[in-house]
Amino acid sequence: MTPDGVREACVHVADGRIERVAPFDDAPPAVPLVEAGERVVMPGLVDTHVHVNEPGRTEWEGFETATRAAAAGGVTTILDMPLNSIPPTTTIAALAEKRAAADGKVHVDVGFWGGAVPGDLGQLRELHDAGVFGFKCFLCPSGVDEFGSLELEQLGAAAAEIAAFDGLLIVHAELSGPIERATEGLAGSDPFAYRTYLASRPASAEEQAMAAVAEASAATGCRTHVLHLSAATGLDTLAGGERVSVETCPHYLTFEAAEIPDGATACKCAPPIRDAANRERLWDGLRDGRIAAVVSDHSPCTADLKAGSFFEAWGGIASVQLGLRAVWTQARARGFALEDVARWMSEGPAAIAGLERKGAIAEGRDADLVLFEPEGSSEVDPSELHHRNPVTPYAGRRLDGRVAATYVRGVEVYADGRFRDEPVGRLLSRGAA
Ligand code: ZN
Repeated sequence: MTPDGVREACVHVADGRIERVAPFDDAPPAVPLVEAGERVVMPGLVDTHVHVNEPGRTEWEGFETATRAAAAGGVTTILDMPLNSIPPTTTIAALAEKRAAADGKVHVDVGFWGGAVPGDLGQLRELHDAGVFGFKCFLCPSGVDEFGSLELEQLGAAAAEIAAFDGLLIVHAELSGPIERATEGLAGSDPFAYRTYLASRPASAEEQAMAAVAEASAATGCRTHVLHLSAATGLDTLAGGERVSVETCPHYLTFEAAEIPDGATACKCAPPIRDAANRERLWDGLRDGRIAAVVSDHSPCTADLKAGSFFEAWGGIASVQLGLRAVWTQARARGFALEDVARWMSEGPAAIAGLERKGAIAEGRDADLVLFEPEGSSEVDPSELHHRNPVTPYAGRRLDGRVAATYVRGVEVYADGRFRDEPVGRLLSRGAA
């Protein structure tokens, strides 16, 4: 699968890079050859939205398990979110702790986002220079006390600060006000009913946040990215936000609110999964290019924290291993091709994050490859998931396709259920060769 489409080819790899995409029968003698057969050779997925949680909440997830799950899912690069680990990645010292925790245990390449929180505004430049790919902020409570959210004036200040060094601001785009007002109106409603949780996080919270993001970006010129869009109507609020990109996630493209049983907290995430009509409008956004990326928002926790009512349970869906199959299953049913999936899950996120060597099978790129079998399907068995706490709303769901093997910079790291013993993933820094 090249940037120009799927064709027969021979991909030459040297020193971990793609040296040449040659005609099919142009294979030099006496070099190791991998025959892909009928399998599609795809660019490895670039999942720019993964919460690894190590150090500090390593019992939720860690670098070893998260990157194993990634490799088994055809993901060859992850970018780790700055929160849920302790400390959060809001200082150079915290970034160093993260890197030390990851060093030597990662099965795929790993880069890091920084955080823009009230306490580090004015000091973002040094974290940028230390190699983070951009800065995440929240406009509503983040779910953990140590990662504060920004007021709208602070959003503007962060955008101006980041624009000054042409960095990237990435935003959890839900605004507190509409959530608080909606929640007050739900007193007495059943907290175990999914409809109660859904009503507590209305589309207006996303719409108003995205309008504020577009305004901050337009006012400052800051490159800005909206994380995990759920409310498709938010796309209509981005007028003027020419420098604003948008991602969504496999669960918003797969599930619909009406099928989520009461008490099914495995489906809890924020923003929430909405109705089927909204889901189809997200697919429209992918079709017309307003949504440029599909990434997992892999965010596990221990099983006990996923219990209780929708308001008590941890919000997060862990799907780094399942994203490719989940999106392919839904995409093909709507007439999309596997090239579209690669555009959304490899090329799109790589471009947004500035990962210039990732995201395509093309000369000079890293030889990050997936051998994917698009036909066939199987049911998701949580015991086959490699992340630390395999609670998943995909359990028992039939998904199309199979990841047969995954290569990171030319090295086979996963094949047919088995991992390379020695992890070969590298820690990435923005702008580094
Ligand atoms: Zn997230």
